[in-house]
Amino acid sequence: MNNKKIIVAIDGFSSSGKSTMARELAKRVGYVYVDSGAMYRAVTLYALRHGMVNADHAVNRKELVAALPSIHVSFQPAGADGVQHTLLNGEDVEKGIRDMQVSALVSPVAEIPEVRERLVDLQKKFGEHKGIVMDGRDIGTTVFPNAELKIFVCASPEERARRRLKEMQEKGENVSYDEVYNNVVERDRIDTTREVSPLRKAADAIELDNGDMTREQQMDRLLSHFDEALKKNCP
Ligand code: C5P
Repeated sequence: MNNKKIIVAIDGFSSSGKSTMARELAKRVGYVYVDSGAMYRAVTLYALRHGMVNADHAVNRKELVAALPSIHVSFQPAGADGVQHTLLNGEDVEKGIRDMQVSALVSPVAEIPEVRERLVDLQKKFGEHKGIVMDGRDIGTTVFPNAELKIFVCASPEERARRRLKEMQEKGENVSYDEVYNNVVERDRIDTTREVSPLRKAADAIELDNGDMTREQQMDRLLSHFDEALKKNCP
Protein backbone atom coordinates (compact mmCIF):
# COMPACT_ATOMS: atom_id res chain seq x y z
CA MET A 1 0.00 0.00 0.00
CA ASN A 2 1.32 3.41 -0.99
CA ASN A 3 1.31 5.74 2.03
CA LYS A 4 2.06 8.89 0.08
CA LYS A 5 -0.93 11.08 -0.63
CA ILE A 6 -2.06 13.41 -3.37
CA ILE A 7 -4.57 16.23 -3.75
CA VAL A 8 -7.60 15.69 -5.98
CA ALA A 9 -9.36 18.81 -7.31
CA ILE A 10 -12.80 18.32 -8.84
CA ASP A 11 -14.35 21.35 -10.51
CA GLY A 12 -17.40 21.82 -12.63
CA PHE A 13 -20.75 23.47 -13.20
CA SER A 14 -23.62 23.62 -10.70
CA SER A 15 -25.34 20.29 -10.08
CA SER A 16 -22.96 18.39 -12.35
CA GLY A 17 -22.76 15.61 -9.77
CA LYS A 18 -19.23 16.55 -8.77
CA SER A 19 -19.95 16.52 -5.02
CA THR A 20 -21.34 12.99 -5.17
CA MET A 21 -18.31 11.84 -7.17
CA ALA A 22 -15.85 13.62 -4.90
CA ARG A 23 -17.47 12.31 -1.71
CA GLU A 24 -17.52 8.75 -3.03
CA LEU A 25 -13.92 8.88 -4.26
CA ALA A 26 -12.74 10.20 -0.88
CA LYS A 27 -14.56 7.37 0.88
CA ARG A 28 -13.12 4.71 -1.44
CA VAL A 29 -9.51 5.88 -1.07
CA GLY A 30 -9.70 6.97 2.59
CA TYR A 31 -9.15 10.68 1.94
CA VAL A 32 -10.79 13.70 3.56
CA TYR A 33 -13.61 15.24 1.50
CA VAL A 34 -14.23 18.98 1.45
CA ASP A 35 -17.26 20.53 -0.27
CA SER A 36 -16.07 24.08 -0.94
CA GLY A 37 -19.51 25.12 -2.28
CA ALA A 38 -20.96 24.39 1.17
CA MET A 39 -18.59 27.02 2.58
CA TYR A 40 -19.89 29.72 0.21
CA ARG A 41 -23.42 28.57 1.01
CA ALA A 42 -22.81 28.89 4.78
CA VAL A 43 -21.56 32.49 4.38
CA THR A 44 -24.69 33.21 2.29
CA LEU A 45 -26.93 31.79 5.00
CA TYR A 46 -25.19 34.03 7.53
CA ALA A 47 -25.92 37.09 5.33
CA LEU A 48 -29.58 36.09 5.05
CA ARG A 49 -29.98 35.51 8.76
CA HIS A 50 -28.34 38.80 9.67
CA GLY A 51 -30.51 41.02 7.47
CA MET A 52 -27.77 41.69 4.93
CA VAL A 53 -30.07 41.01 1.96
CA ASN A 54 -32.51 43.73 0.91
CA ALA A 55 -35.99 43.41 -0.61
CA ASP A 56 -34.47 43.38 -4.13
CA HIS A 57 -32.36 40.37 -3.15
CA ALA A 58 -29.13 42.37 -3.22
CA VAL A 59 -26.45 41.48 -0.68
CA ASN A 60 -24.98 44.30 1.39
CA ARG A 61 -21.34 43.64 0.54
CA LYS A 62 -19.94 46.17 3.00
CA GLU A 63 -21.77 44.66 5.97
CA LEU A 64 -20.90 41.12 4.96
CA VAL A 65 -17.20 41.90 4.51
CA ALA A 66 -17.16 43.62 7.93
CA ALA A 67 -18.76 40.52 9.49
CA LEU A 68 -16.32 38.02 7.93
CA PRO A 69 -14.09 37.72 11.04
CA SER A 70 -17.12 36.48 12.98
CA ILE A 71 -18.14 33.87 10.40
CA HIS A 72 -16.60 30.48 11.08
CA VAL A 73 -17.26 27.60 8.74
CA SER A 74 -16.20 24.06 9.59
CA PHE A 75 -17.25 20.48 8.96
CA GLN A 76 -18.40 17.67 11.17
CA PRO A 77 -17.21 14.28 9.93
CA ALA A 78 -19.86 12.03 8.42
CA GLY A 79 -22.06 10.42 11.07
CA ALA A 80 -24.67 7.67 10.90
CA ASP A 81 -26.28 9.19 7.76
CA GLY A 82 -22.90 8.99 5.96
CA VAL A 83 -23.06 12.71 5.16
CA GLN A 84 -20.54 15.30 6.27
CA HIS A 85 -22.35 18.22 7.89
CA THR A 86 -21.45 21.88 7.45
CA LEU A 87 -21.22 23.97 10.60
CA LEU A 88 -21.73 27.73 10.76
CA ASN A 89 -20.28 29.09 13.98
CA GLY A 90 -20.68 25.61 15.43
CA GLU A 91 -24.31 25.14 14.36
CA ASP A 92 -25.24 22.33 11.98
CA VAL A 93 -26.65 24.12 8.91
CA GLU A 94 -26.40 21.27 6.40
CA LYS A 95 -30.10 21.39 5.53
CA GLY A 96 -30.51 25.19 5.52
CA ILE A 97 -27.63 25.84 3.12
CA ARG A 98 -29.23 23.66 0.41
CA ASP A 99 -32.54 25.49 0.04
CA MET A 100 -33.57 27.63 -2.91
CA GLN A 101 -33.19 30.92 -1.04
CA VAL A 102 -29.51 30.23 -0.44
CA SER A 103 -29.00 28.80 -3.96
CA ALA A 104 -30.42 32.00 -5.44
CA LEU A 105 -27.98 34.22 -3.54
CA VAL A 106 -24.81 32.18 -3.27
CA SER A 107 -23.21 33.14 -6.60
CA PRO A 108 -23.41 36.91 -5.92
CA VAL A 109 -21.89 36.25 -2.47
CA ALA A 110 -19.14 34.08 -4.00
CA GLU A 111 -18.25 36.97 -6.32
CA ILE A 112 -17.11 39.16 -3.41
CA PRO A 113 -13.27 39.11 -3.44
CA GLU A 114 -12.93 39.31 0.37
CA VAL A 115 -15.26 36.33 0.81
CA ARG A 116 -13.21 34.31 -1.68
CA GLU A 117 -9.93 35.31 -0.06
CA ARG A 118 -11.06 34.14 3.35
CA LEU A 119 -12.54 30.85 2.17
CA VAL A 120 -9.64 30.05 -0.19
CA ASP A 121 -7.18 30.51 2.71
CA LEU A 122 -9.19 28.06 4.78
CA GLN A 123 -9.44 25.60 1.89
CA LYS A 124 -5.65 25.69 1.40
CA LYS A 125 -5.20 24.84 5.08
CA PHE A 126 -7.45 21.79 4.69
CA GLY A 127 -5.01 20.52 2.04
CA GLU A 128 -1.78 21.09 3.97
CA HIS A 129 -1.27 17.37 4.56
CA LYS A 130 -2.65 16.26 1.19
CA GLY A 131 -4.90 13.18 1.21
CA ILE A 132 -7.85 15.38 0.29
CA VAL A 133 -10.57 15.48 -2.38
CA MET A 134 -12.09 18.95 -2.75
CA ASP A 135 -14.81 19.95 -5.16
CA GLY A 136 -15.83 23.42 -6.34
CA ARG A 137 -15.29 25.89 -9.15
CA ASP A 138 -11.71 27.12 -8.72
CA ILE A 139 -10.02 24.26 -6.90
CA GLY A 140 -7.72 23.23 -9.77
CA THR A 141 -7.06 26.81 -10.87
CA THR A 142 -6.74 28.81 -7.63
CA VAL A 143 -6.95 26.75 -4.44
CA PHE A 144 -4.65 23.89 -5.48
CA PRO A 145 -3.01 24.83 -8.78
CA ASN A 146 -0.46 22.05 -8.14
CA ALA A 147 -3.02 19.32 -7.40
CA GLU A 148 -1.77 15.99 -8.72
CA LEU A 149 -5.18 15.12 -10.16
CA LYS A 150 -7.63 17.64 -11.59
CA ILE A 151 -11.02 16.67 -12.96
CA PHE A 152 -13.45 18.99 -14.71
CA VAL A 153 -17.01 17.66 -14.71
CA CYS A 154 -19.63 18.74 -17.22
CA ALA A 155 -23.16 17.83 -18.36
CA SER A 156 -25.86 19.84 -20.14
CA PRO A 157 -27.85 22.42 -18.09
CA GLU A 158 -31.06 20.44 -18.77
CA GLU A 159 -29.54 17.24 -17.39
CA ARG A 160 -28.15 19.07 -14.38
CA ALA A 161 -31.50 20.77 -13.66
CA ARG A 162 -33.30 17.40 -13.87
CA ARG A 163 -30.88 15.87 -11.35
CA ARG A 164 -31.11 18.81 -8.98
CA LEU A 165 -34.92 18.84 -9.14
CA LYS A 166 -35.04 15.13 -8.28
CA GLU A 167 -32.65 15.67 -5.38
CA MET A 168 -34.72 18.58 -4.01
CA GLN A 169 -38.03 16.78 -4.44
CA GLU A 170 -36.64 13.78 -2.58
CA LYS A 171 -35.88 16.15 0.28
CA GLY A 172 -39.49 17.36 0.22
CA GLU A 173 -38.80 20.79 -1.33
CA ASN A 174 -41.61 22.26 -3.38
CA VAL A 175 -39.86 23.64 -6.49
CA SER A 176 -40.56 23.56 -10.21
CA TYR A 177 -38.26 22.42 -13.04
CA ASP A 178 -38.18 25.97 -14.45
CA GLU A 179 -37.13 27.45 -11.13
CA VAL A 180 -34.28 24.96 -10.79
CA TYR A 181 -33.23 25.28 -14.46
CA ASN A 182 -33.13 29.08 -14.27
CA ASN A 183 -31.08 28.92 -11.09
CA VAL A 184 -28.56 26.51 -12.65
CA VAL A 185 -28.15 28.70 -15.76
CA GLU A 186 -27.89 31.92 -13.76
CA ARG A 187 -25.25 30.44 -11.43
CA ASP A 188 -23.27 29.20 -14.46
CA ARG A 189 -23.39 32.71 -15.89
CA ILE A 190 -22.19 34.43 -12.72
CA ASP A 191 -19.60 31.73 -11.94
CA THR A 192 -18.01 31.84 -15.40
CA THR A 193 -17.97 35.61 -15.81
CA ARG A 194 -16.93 36.89 -12.36
CA GLU A 195 -13.66 38.75 -12.09
CA VAL A 196 -11.99 36.75 -9.33
CA SER A 197 -11.33 33.04 -9.99
CA PRO A 198 -14.03 32.47 -12.61
CA LEU A 199 -15.10 28.90 -13.23
CA ARG A 200 -12.94 27.45 -15.98
CA LYS A 201 -11.18 24.22 -16.75
CA ALA A 202 -7.53 24.22 -15.68
CA ALA A 203 -5.20 23.56 -18.62
CA ASP A 204 -4.08 20.26 -17.05
CA ALA A 205 -7.53 19.07 -15.93
CA ILE A 206 -9.14 15.93 -17.32
CA GLU A 207 -12.61 16.61 -18.71
CA LEU A 208 -15.33 14.20 -17.67
CA ASP A 209 -18.72 14.52 -19.35
CA ASN A 210 -20.98 12.43 -17.16
CA GLY A 211 -24.26 13.15 -18.99
CA ASP A 212 -24.60 9.55 -20.18
CA MET A 213 -22.66 7.77 -17.45
CA THR A 214 -23.98 5.73 -14.54
CA ARG A 215 -22.59 6.37 -11.08
CA GLU A 216 -20.56 3.17 -11.27
CA GLN A 217 -19.06 4.13 -14.63
CA GLN A 218 -18.10 7.56 -13.26
CA MET A 219 -16.48 5.98 -10.24
CA ASP A 220 -14.53 3.44 -12.33
CA ARG A 221 -13.20 6.23 -14.52
CA LEU A 222 -12.32 8.38 -11.53
CA LEU A 223 -10.58 5.55 -9.70
CA SER A 224 -8.45 4.72 -12.70
CA HIS A 225 -7.37 8.38 -13.04
CA PHE A 226 -6.65 8.38 -9.31
CA ASP A 227 -4.46 5.25 -9.49
CA GLU A 228 -2.58 6.68 -12.44
CA ALA A 229 -1.94 10.00 -10.66
CA LEU A 230 -0.82 8.22 -7.51
CA LYS A 231 1.63 6.02 -9.46
CA LYS A 232 3.01 8.99 -11.34
CA ASN A 233 3.43 11.26 -8.32
CA CYS A 234 4.18 8.84 -5.51
CA PRO A 235 6.18 6.04 -7.19
O1 C5P B 1 -21.07 23.49 -5.39
P1 C5P B 1 -22.30 24.30 -5.11
O2 C5P B 1 -23.22 24.36 -6.27
O3 C5P B 1 -22.98 23.94 -3.83
O4 C5P B 1 -21.73 25.78 -4.88
C1 C5P B 1 -22.58 26.87 -4.61
C2 C5P B 1 -22.03 28.13 -5.25
O5 C5P B 1 -20.83 28.52 -4.58
C3 C5P B 1 -21.66 28.06 -6.72
O6 C5P B 1 -22.77 28.32 -7.58
C4 C5P B 1 -20.60 29.12 -6.85
O7 C5P B 1 -21.20 30.39 -7.05
C5 C5P B 1 -19.94 29.13 -5.49
N1 C5P B 1 -18.66 28.43 -5.45
C6 C5P B 1 -17.53 29.11 -5.84
N2 C5P B 1 -16.31 28.52 -5.73
C7 C5P B 1 -16.18 27.28 -5.26
C8 C5P B 1 -17.33 26.56 -4.87
C9 C5P B 1 -18.57 27.15 -5.00
O8 C5P B 1 -17.62 30.24 -6.28
N3 C5P B 1 -14.97 26.75 -5.14
